[in-house]
Amino acid sequence: MESPVYAEGRPASPAAAAAWDVAAMVCDPEIPVLTIEDLGVLRHVEVSDAGVQVAITPTYSGCPAMDAIRQDITAALGAAGYSSVRVSLELAPAWTTDWMSSAGKAKLDAYGIAAPSGRAAAGPVRVGLSVKCPQCSSLNTRELTRFGSTSCKALWVCGDCREPFDYFKVL
Ligand SMILES: [Zn+2]
Repeated sequence: MESPVYAEGRPASPAAAAAWDVAAMVCDPEIPVLTIEDLGVLRHVEVSDAGVQVAITPTYSGCPAMDAIRQDITAALGAAGYSSVRVSLELAPAWTTDWMSSAGKAKLDAYGIAAPSGRAAAGPVRVGLSVKCPQCSSLNTRELTRFGSTSCKALWVCGDCREPFDYFKVL
């Protein structure tokens, strides 16, 4: 299957791959179990004489986490000895939950956040039908509020174990 033009992932060149591995350790400040690589937020890493260029794509246009992620990437690469680091935002194509790795979705589940289900590309997604409770795996769940603890998540509650949980919205 052909990857999208921008979804290059870990670079082939050893120098760029080494810098990628440093940047890939940066975690999402809102979901600290997920790295920006798990999320698919980390897009490109290039190393040249001018320094390191990193491109990230925000998960959500309103996600204030991106500023923190930018600073964390710069700090992590700086600590690894890269003196000149530039982090740019790539807004097109827009991030979708499809870019999240399966390892990332498994970590989300383990963290108590229902991982996104369905494919964003398939048009309007009715997420209300199949959100699984991360505690007891029941499908008897409903949305409490569209906006949970952050703009990326909605608050759901399980009808069986009565536990509330965050649902990572499909975008
Ligand atoms: Zn439950």
